[in-house]
Amino acid sequence: MSQYDDSLYTGLQEEETAARILDGNLVAAEIRQQVKEEMKRVKAARGVVPGLAIVLVNSPVAHRGIAELKKRTCESVGVYCQIHELGSLTRQDEVIALIKRLNYDQRIHGINVHPLPNHMNFKQVIRAVDPAKDVEGLHPLNLGNFLIGDRSYLPFTPRGIMKLIEKTGIELKGKRCVVVGRSHHVGLPIAFMLLEKHATVTIAHSRSWYLEQMTREADVLVVAAGHPEMITGSMVKPGAVVIDVGVNVVGGHLVGDVEHKSVRKVAGWLTPVPGGVGPMTIAMLLLNLVRCCE
Ligand code: NDP
Repeated sequence: MSQYDDSLYTGLQEEETAARILDGNLVAAEIRQQVKEEMKRVKAARGVVPGLAIVLVNSPVAHRGIAELKKRTCESVGVYCQIHELGSLTRQDEVIALIKRLNYDQRIHGINVHPLPNHMNFKQVIRAVDPAKDVEGLHPLNLGNFLIGDRSYLPFTPRGIMKLIEKTGIELKGKRCVVVGRSHHVGLPIAFMLLEKHATVTIAHSRSWYLEQMTREADVLVVAAGHPEMITGSMVKPGAVVIDVGVNVVGGHLVGDVEHKSVRKVAGWLTPVPGGVGPMTIAMLLLNLVRCCE
């Protein structure tokens, strides 16, 4: 792909100095096509219909919506999908018992646990998932393998982010990348993936001082902090690639962690919210499921 692929440029108003928009829907459609082909291959070679189980525990409405969207996407590419919705009174041992049943369920090849309520321990729950069905790439065994360069199971949101960055054509070697956020499923793995591409990476978090100074130096800025529109135009280096991972509901609307109105005048590339990282996340989950089936 050329450095400036016009098919990804969805066009903003001419009066703005417009960042090119990295259209996640477009790239995700390509990935889904790839998944469809790979699923057919798996079915023909092994005679199995790939299956995904999604586990929700006392999830907010938005998460239920995401789970339904995942299910519809699965069905569109020939994947069997179950949603297990557990209520607010569910205990952690009951969640683990469900996961253990899914580990033995031959129709299921991947298990996706949505964010758990605060009183549950994600580390204990994810350890219960059979590492071979760890479609999230977050089981300690798979995360450990990832850190020593084994790319069999990769966390899917960062995998989607890397695909979007790749679409800009930017050469990451030697570039300055700043990741805002250090969660195990987004911030840390994306920082490591950028490092693997020989970028120089800084991770900022809630205790970081002088955030603005750091973000202004970034050739690539990935923001996954969960604070609506916290990154404004004055915090961005002109021409930078800005990846907005954030999904926040404000006044009934979805907004990212980046203030698009000001940032799109400064950045070179920008992911929209919605329609940027979100669709990539689901597409990459399916690609991970292919890996689990294999
Ligand atoms: P977490 O709450 O797990 O982590 C947030 C991170 O941001 C923490 O490391 C925290 O630091 C850091 N942080 C918080 N406030 C600041 C601040 N003021 N300055 C710098 N760093 C800060 O969130 P997630 O990683 O799960 O998600 C982040 C966002 O991405 C959310 O909006 C979420 O909805 C969205 N998301 C979107 C996905 C998609 O597919 N589009 C997928 C996954 C997440 P500390 O560690 O010090 O607390």
